[in-house]
Amino acid sequence: MNNNPIVLVVEDDASVRNLITTTLKSHDYKYISAANGKSAIMEASSHNPDVIFLDLGLPDMDGIEVIRTIRTWSLVPIIVISARGEDSDKIEALDTGADDYLTKPFSVEELLARLRVCQRRLSIIKEDLHQSSVFVNGDLKIDYASGCVFLKDTELHLTPIEYKLLCLLASNIGKVLTHTYITQKIWNHTDENEVASLRVFMATLRKKIEKNTNGVQYIQTHVGVGYRMIKQLDKCE
Ligand code: CA
Repeated sequence: MNNNPIVLVVEDDASVRNLITTTLKSHDYKYISAANGKSAIMEASSHNPDVIFLDLGLPDMDGIEVIRTIRTWSLVPIIVISARGEDSDKIEALDTGADDYLTKPFSVEELLARLRVCQRRLSIIKEDLHQSSVFVNGDLKIDYASGCVFLKDTELHLTPIEYKLLCLLASNIGKVLTHTYITQKIWNHTDENEVASLRVFMATLRKKIEKNTNGVQYIQTHVGVGYRMIKQLDKCE
C-alpha cells in the first residue's frame, strides 16, 4: 500500500462521518465519503479505495448488502461500524466478508488502530504469503510442507485440530473470524457443541503458542464474536 491510502467512509450520520473524515485528513489519509449504500457501491467501484469504513444502518439499503455487492469484485478490507447491542449484525457482516468492526461510540485512537490492522493485512495479501510454504509471524513459524509449527525454533506439538485452527487463523491474519466461520471450516458444521469445543481447542492452542513469549499475544479473543491472529510487527503501537 502506498503512503497515502484512500479510505472510503460510508456513514449517513453527518457528525460521525465528519469525525472520521477529519481524523483521516489529519493523519494524511485520502478519503472519499458516501451517505448511503448506493453511492457507497458506486464510489467503491469507481475509486478503488484501499480500505472501507461502512456503517451497517444505512437509509437506502442494508450494510450487509453493500458488503455482499462489493465482495463480488473486490477484496478491499471492510471495517463495519455498528451500534452497541447489534452483535448479530456485526457477526453477519464478518461472515459476509467484512474484516473487522468498530462499535459506536468509538475513539479516534481505536479508529486509527483498526485502520493500521487493515493496512497490514492488505500488505500481507499483496505479498501473497498464502502461496508460500512457510508462514512467519514474530517467533511463530508454520512449515506447511512438513506440517510442523515452531516457536523460537522449538517445535510445538499440536493436535490435528489445533494445527487446522492455527492455519486458518494464519491465512486470515489481521481479520476477525467468527465462531460460525471457524466451526464451519473445521467441522463443516455449527451448533452450540462445536462453539463450546472451539473454545476448548482455542484455549489449549493459545497455551501452547503463547507460553514463554513474555506476554506476546498471537490470538485475540473477541468475546461473543470470534478470534483474530495478530500480526507481530509494530511494537510501537
Ligand atoms: Ca446509520
